[in-house]
Amino acid sequence: MTQIINDQWRLRARPVGLVKESDFELVQEPLPATGDGQVLVRNHYLAFEPAMRGWLNDVKSYIPPVGLGEVMRASAVGEVVESRHPDYSAGQMVSGMLGWQKYALTEGMPGPMGGLTRVPEGVEPQLMLSALGGTGLTAYFGMIGIGEVREGDTVLVTGAAGATGSVAAQIARLKGAAKVVGIAGGPEKCQWLLEKAGLDAAIDYKSEKVSARLREEFPKGISLFYDNVGGEILDQALLEMAQFGRVVLCGGISSYNEEELPPGPANYMQIVIRRLTVRGFILIDHFAQAGEAIGALSGWIQEGKLIHAEDIQEGFENAPKTFLRLFQGQNLGKQLLKITDS
Ligand code: NAP
Repeated sequence: MTQIINDQWRLRARPVGLVKESDFELVQEPLPATGDGQVLVRNHYLAFEPAMRGWLNDVKSYIPPVGLGEVMRASAVGEVVESRHPDYSAGQMVSGMLGWQKYALTEGMPGPMGGLTRVPEGVEPQLMLSALGGTGLTAYFGMIGIGEVREGDTVLVTGAAGATGSVAAQIARLKGAAKVVGIAGGPEKCQWLLEKAGLDAAIDYKSEKVSARLREEFPKGISLFYDNVGGEILDQALLEMAQFGRVVLCGGISSYNEEELPPGPANYMQIVIRRLTVRGFILIDHFAQAGEAIGALSGWIQEGKLIHAEDIQEGFENAPKTFLRLFQGQNLGKQLLKITDS
């Protein structure tokens, strides 16, 4: 095989505040030969998640931070171009933590972030990054396993037009919730939630008064609150919880780029007064049940009961810019970057 020059985005500096394009640098380096037990993958799509911002901070977390000079960690889907690993062969489509690079040389990547997964026959490869990937699985485990959504629930989902929130909100509807309300930024996203995702109501937090709208939509209180954003919206929702309500803490994107963390929720005592159950979770603890989740999600997609949106940008050179879209609220559904023509 002729030597391939690989393009990679590496971490140049630890971001301070909002992540910047200059925190990364584009480098080119020759790919070493594929060694015994290794698989060479040509990435087709890169996936972007707000959690990647947290991986850039040099702090203790559920996985080690990305090191300075290392290829930016990210999930991706691509084609095996050469395999010296018994479980993979050339031509197969695979997904995994393959990073911001055109080619990934991997051992199959055992570890906390999961391994190299073969894309099942008949499945669109990028679905393994969106509804059947990390964000779809997070929505599934968060809404069903952690939130224990049940018939009759009155459900609020924040970040509702995003990759995780849009799937979580629809799962609540599919599981018989009496009412599902989403909060998102802007009229286009709210319209999508009502007309495409089938939610009962949508609140545009950028132009509406969230506390008043929550009171209007939940006269008897929120029985299940799935939160992706934290901050002020979490605080306001705590005031509208029903007694014995459940709160699923999935993420808190509103503070991911803050240099100084804001104080905790002022309405914290509502957890006591309303006897709430508040549970946080991280997807990596649920990988063992991924098969069950993928089966259920793909069944709903095939039956047309679960719709998913993907925001596909193009061009490898645009990786940092595409990452920023998450924090500017530019994506509707899963943020992806297509980096090949095929
Ligand atoms: P996403 O929702 O597709 O994209 C992020 C969205 O967040 C943006 O489109 C924007 O939508 C919203 N946003 C950005 N800044 C905001 C702010 N300051 N305040 C309120 N909303 C803001 O991303 P995702 O990958 O699905 O992740 C959603 C959440 O789930 C994140 O908090 C993430 O960390 C969490 N998550 C957790 C796990 C886990 O294992 N616990 C796994 C995956 C994801 P608007 O236009 O509506 O503002």
